[in-house]
Amino acid sequence: MTINLAIVGVGKIVRDQHLPAIAADPAYRLVAAASRNGTVEGIDNYTSIEAMLSQKPEIEAVSLCMPPQYRYASAHAALSAGKHVFLEKPPGATLSEVAALETLAAEKGLSLFASWHSRYAPAVEAARDFLSRTRLHSVRVVWKEDVRHWHPNQAWIWAAGGLGVFDPGINALSIVTHILPEALFITEATLEFPENRDAPIAASMRFSSASNLDATAEFDWRQTGKQSWDIIAATEAGEMVLSEGGAKLSVDGKSVHEEPEAEYPALYRRFAEIIAAGRSDVDLAPLRHVADAFMLGRRKFVDAFHD
Ligand code: NAP
Repeated sequence: MTINLAIVGVGKIVRDQHLPAIAADPAYRLVAAASRNGTVEGIDNYTSIEAMLSQKPEIEAVSLCMPPQYRYASAHAALSAGKHVFLEKPPGATLSEVAALETLAAEKGLSLFASWHSRYAPAVEAARDFLSRTRLHSVRVVWKEDVRHWHPNQAWIWAAGGLGVFDPGINALSIVTHILPEALFITEATLEFPENRDAPIAASMRFSSASNLDATAEFDWRQTGKQSWDIIAATEAGEMVLSEGGAKLSVDGKSVHEEPEAEYPALYRRFAEIIAAGRSDVDLAPLRHVADAFMLGRRKFVDAFHD
């Protein structure tokens, strides 16, 4: 059975990842797009989701890819119109709005998918398996990249609700919350805000757990030169390094898992699977850690940031 899909918020991630993944997946037929400025060739385009939903009743599911601060209203409109909903990460601007969407989806008998693309990085399942079979001593997350390279002129990312450095950092948290055998909680955090922005450019966090696991995370957007997207675990079976955002796994320097990246094809397979099963997939743990960091974190003001 083919799912008639529409896409909303046509920008960077839609062009880079969603359109190729959808085109390659026979489970979907892309029938429409809604975006204020962006368009997708060869299908019907609308400038608002409301116009699209009223004029294109054959739509069965929508992928919402606009920035998180603007996602709730579209998700509510789509679910109210009887459509399954795929949310880009982070699933929303607040925990409560996503919880409200989950309730609405359940009431309507629809599937809501809070997608976490980094969980589908090639070596993530191998890391989870490795950690499930050993004893963990400590975990260190190092997520450092150059914001000017990866997010040029993205005003929303620096606005309140745009998450700043937590926009990439939440990808690390989505992996950590998936691969560790127990839940973590933040005990200390420091968030560095450029004096002219409403979102942090860097953050450091310390975590604990029921078994007192020692875990830390360093997120920084001022990294030029080599970029780091690494999760390092000291374990009884050696030092596990999950690097390149979940693409590569090594233990004591020896590569144990490496294969080509295919996160978005896997996300779309998962969305089709939950639609067929009549259920939702909404794990708010990564967003909860971000909320906790904003709630508990000390704030430091640092030099203004200009693109
Ligand atoms: P983007 O290109 O800046 O934004 C996507 C589109 O959203 C824009 O082209 C714009 O389309 C629409 N939009 C922007 N501001 C809006 C507003 N105020 N109200 C309504 N629509 C608005 O961002 P992106 O990089 O694609 O990221 C979008 C989402 O995907 C984010 O949550 C991000 O975390 C996630 N993501 C991004 C990447 C990446 O590498 N970029 C990777 C994975 C996930 P119109 O002007 O046509 O409406």
